[in-house]
Amino acid sequence: MLDLTPKEITERKALRINPCKTCQPVGALYCALGVHKCMPHSHGSQGCVSYHRSVLARHFKEPAIATTSSFSEGACVFGGGSNVKTAVKNIFDIYDPDIIACHTTCLSETIGDDLNTYIQQMDIPTGKMVIHCNTPSYVGSHINGFFNMMAGFIEYLAEKADICNGKIGIFPGFVNPGDMREMKRIAELVKADYIMFPDTSGVMDAPITGRYSMYPKGGTKIADIKKLGAVRRIIALGEITEQEPCMVLKRKCNIESDIMPLPIGITNTDAYIMSLTRLTNAEVPYSLEEERGQIVDIMLDSSAHVFGKKAAIYGDPDTVLGIAALVLEMGMIPKYMLTGTPMDSFSKKAQVLLNKYGVADQCQVKAAGDLFELHQWIKNETVDILIGTTYGKQIAKAEDIPMVRAGFPVLDRHAHALQPIVGYKGALRLVEMILNAILDKQDRICADEDLEIVL
Ligand code: SF4
Repeated sequence: MLDLTPKEITERKALRINPCKTCQPVGALYCALGVHKCMPHSHGSQGCVSYHRSVLARHFKEPAIATTSSFSEGACVFGGGSNVKTAVKNIFDIYDPDIIACHTTCLSETIGDDLNTYIQQMDIPTGKMVIHCNTPSYVGSHINGFFNMMAGFIEYLAEKADICNGKIGIFPGFVNPGDMREMKRIAELVKADYIMFPDTSGVMDAPITGRYSMYPKGGTKIADIKKLGAVRRIIALGEITEQEPCMVLKRKCNIESDIMPLPIGITNTDAYIMSLTRLTNAEVPYSLEEERGQIVDIMLDSSAHVFGKKAAIYGDPDTVLGIAALVLEMGMIPKYMLTGTPMDSFSKKAQVLLNKYGVADQCQVKAAGDLFELHQWIKNETVDILIGTTYGKQIAKAEDIPMVRAGFPVLDRHAHALQPIVGYKGALRLVEMILNAILDKQDRICADEDLEIVL
């Protein structure tokens, strides 16, 4: 399918081919799904929300509920105020959420709809709430939408208090529910009293019970989001994704944050655990030490097969940085690191990481890139493995490169969203996937006499 991608790289400014990102409302919708009894609402046309819901449903293999202001020609000309007011009334009447989280779309942003004013003019039932954030999709990516919606919830709900409630706030970053469960498991092992926000575990990985429930058991409670304004500190996982929500919480409620990388790989997981234990004063339990020892052991055992191998890593900025850290710990080289999200800080953080391991001169890093360009890089100098979203599979096929699926979206496999890539357990899973992908190719292409039974 991509056999005709040319090797020669020409400068492109106004065109993205095979983008490595999706649109802001997708992230905003995902964030809102991580709040209990919340109805995400898309202020735009039906086409937008159909796309947002379908990409989430395809990744998580779960329904992604959302409503729409259902713009038609009239709303485009006269504004969507009456649409959203009618929609909010209908949503509370029919679906009975506790809160509606509105995000804008390209269309409503372009015509300049002022959701803030519309919300103030609404007749909202007692005890119910409507919040909003702006998600113009012609800037940024789903990552911007995710942190804009987090900031929107904090702006509307977090309550400043004189007395600290003693809790730790955990911002998990744009990760799967399986990752959130693993972050919570670790926090519980070090006896942290925490609030995770948002929390899509129990929502986007909810079990089949035989009975449909529009609002599954999971999700951060509204009361807990209010309490974020009085926590001891926030541990924010995802240095790029979590800057904005932490800044808003600091400005509104004067809460400090430890903003750190996603806990992917050993060093980043260590940092998460140490940050938790500094706040809880708890000892690191033996069970975590054991998990750490196991992953170090596996990395040592497998190093002969992966040392010096080159990886192309692409996807969301914090996920790429985290996976690159793990790959470096394995003795591999993250030859290409690419994100579609336009964030200069991605390149700076990648350079710091690569310098730490002394491999910066062997690697290429790009933010606001696309997979067409990644393919061109690979055509000029190939890699041993691709690690990233489903959209790299055509490159993997065209160039016969093993591929490990990680990040968002993964549309063509199942069960991934329930499994972590964070923590020592997640590192173990990633190492196994990377190692097996490389060895599978080796077994496939080697001469019969070289087909090893024992490694
Ligand atoms: S029009 Fe904008 S908001 Fe709607 S689906 Fe397209 S990029 Fe997303």
